[in-house]
Amino acid sequence: MEIYLDGQFVSEDDAKISIFDHGLLYGDGIFEGIRIYNGAIFKLDEHLDRLYGGAKAIMLAVPLDHDELKAAIVETARRSGLADGYMRLVVTRGKGDLGLNPIKCPKPSIFIIASTISIYPEEVYRHGMKIVTVSTRRNLLEALNPRVKSLNYLNNVLATLEVNRTDAQEGLMLNADGYVTECIVDNFFLVDAGTVVTPPTSMGALKGVTRDTVMDLAREAGYPVEERIITLHDVYVADEAFLTGTAAEIAPITIVDERHIGNGEPGPITTDLMAKFHAYAQTNGTPVG
Ligand code: PMP
Repeated sequence: MEIYLDGQFVSEDDAKISIFDHGLLYGDGIFEGIRIYNGAIFKLDEHLDRLYGGAKAIMLAVPLDHDELKAAIVETARRSGLADGYMRLVVTRGKGDLGLNPIKCPKPSIFIIASTISIYPEEVYRHGMKIVTVSTRRNLLEALNPRVKSLNYLNNVLATLEVNRTDAQEGLMLNADGYVTECIVDNFFLVDAGTVVTPPTSMGALKGVTRDTVMDLAREAGYPVEERIITLHDVYVADEAFLTGTAAEIAPITIVDERHIGNGEPGPITTDLMAKFHAYAQTNGTPVG
């Protein structure tokens, strides 16, 4: 495996970051998970726009500009030889001292890994998954806006520890006011009388690249799409539910907190959007070769 690290391609064993890097010491940094489909990188500009947005919010000067970073990602994908894969792009605050202040970190680090991922068993995509509401609330926008895809994922880790105590595959996270935000590492959707509904990001959700893609595909297919405040009651009485994410793609949700959603099978709109997403992903992207 050839890993991009600060302008060089190195082996996994040589891909080393300082223990004084604030990405490690404080979770100070940002990242993206990106898919390669059929020899092309999916929604690369959208991922980069989100990364640079997060960088701006946390005042992290990414050492490469959009085009340079794009070239580094394409080259990492090319060297991997993967026609289908999953990439991880990370920008850390860089090496500093043991104090917190980023002003002591003059040089952010960038690394890029191309590998593969499969987070849910195949079974889930055919028959749907079970999720549970977790008691850990999504980070407050006023404290750490979930729109920043930061290296500080302890909020998500704590929620995952709760899911691990159940037989569910994902967790549903509420905000401090009790409204639905998103799943732990995926965006959440429901279908209500033919309308495809997801919470606005202002409820405390990441502006998912897959979320945006699915909303576009749904609109193109003629389904009304709404960003709407969602309560747990809305979830329990929904006709269908599904989640979206780069790693997860689109997966049907059929049980939430022991309640069957709709008739307990993946719904027709979910199934249709899954097919449309896969077809779209195969033919849209930045070619690697
Ligand atoms: N929410 C969170 C908290 C995530 O970590 C992810 C995965 N990146 C998503 C949603 C889905 O976003 P995307 O479709 O851009 O992968």
